[in-house]
Amino acid sequence: MSGNICLTFDFDAISLWLQKDMTSMSSISRGEFGAEAVPRFLHTLKKRNLKSTWFIPGHTMETYPKICLDIHDDGHEIGLHGYDHENFNLLDEQEELDILDRSFHVASALIGKSPKGFRSPSWDVSSRTIKNIESLGLIYDSSQMGKDYSPYYSRSQDQFPKQKPPIFGDQTTIIEIPVSWSLDDYPYLEFSKGASGFIPGLKKPEYMYDNWLDDASYMSRDFKNGNMVITLHPQVSGRGHRLLAFERWLDTLIERGFTFTTMEEIALRFSQGEKFGSYEPE
Ligand SMILES: [Zn+2]
Repeated sequence: MSGNICLTFDFDAISLWLQKDMTSMSSISRGEFGAEAVPRFLHTLKKRNLKSTWFIPGHTMETYPKICLDIHDDGHEIGLHGYDHENFNLLDEQEELDILDRSFHVASALIGKSPKGFRSPSWDVSSRTIKNIESLGLIYDSSQMGKDYSPYYSRSQDQFPKQKPPIFGDQTTIIEIPVSWSLDDYPYLEFSKGASGFIPGLKKPEYMYDNWLDDASYMSRDFKNGNMVITLHPQVSGRGHRLLAFERWLDTLIERGFTFTTMEEIALRFSQGEKFGSYEPE
C-alpha cells in the first residue's frame, strides 16, 4: 500500500473555551488538559520517529510557551491558528489583519523563524483570508474541503450572491491542503454542550479509527501518491483509551507502508511540481 498521512494537532488549549464563551473554571480546565496531554503525543510520535504539524493559537503559545517549544524542539512543524481561536468569517477586515499579524509575530518570536502554514479556527476562512495569508508570506492553508487526497491552489475573493451562480475569485499562490470534519477527532469524541451547540461525541475511538483506516485504504487502492490530513486535538484524544486506539491505528498504517510527513513538506513538494492524488482506479 502507499500514500502519505499528515498528522496534524490543533493545540487550542484554553482559547477554544474562550471562543465558545464558556469561561467557568471547569470549562477552562478542559483546555488545560490539552497541555497535560501534549507530552503523551510527543512521546508516541518520537518512539515511531514520526513528524507532524501543530496549529497553535497565539493565546496558547503565550500561555504554554515551554510546551510549544518542546513541540518545536522535537522537530514538528508549528503553524498559525488565530490568536484567540477566532472565527475568521465573523471578523471585519481590520480585525482579521490584526489577528493574523499578531499570531504571526507571536509564533515567529517563539520558534525563531517564520511559520509557513495557516489553519483557520473552526475551519471558516473568509473570502479575504487566503489573500491575507499570502501577503504574510505563508505558503499553505489547511481549512477547506474541496478535495480529499490531493493539495490544490486556493482561490480568494469568491462571491456567493443569492439566486445566482457563484463568482469564483482568482487562484492564488496559497496551496490548500484539504481537511474534512470526518477526519477530525472533535465531532466523533468530544462531548460538548453550550451556546455554540450540542455535540454528543463520546464514540468508541475504534469507530473513528476504523473509518480513517478505510479512508487511507481507499486512497491507497485508487489514488496514486495520495495525501490525507488527520486532525487531532490533545484535549480530546489525550485520554487513555483514545491514546491506545491512536497507537494501534498508527502502527497498522506503518505496517501497511504509509508514510508520514509535515504539511510544509507536502506544500513544498507540491510547489515543485510533484503530483499528488491522481485518480487511477483498478
Ligand atoms: Zn482549533
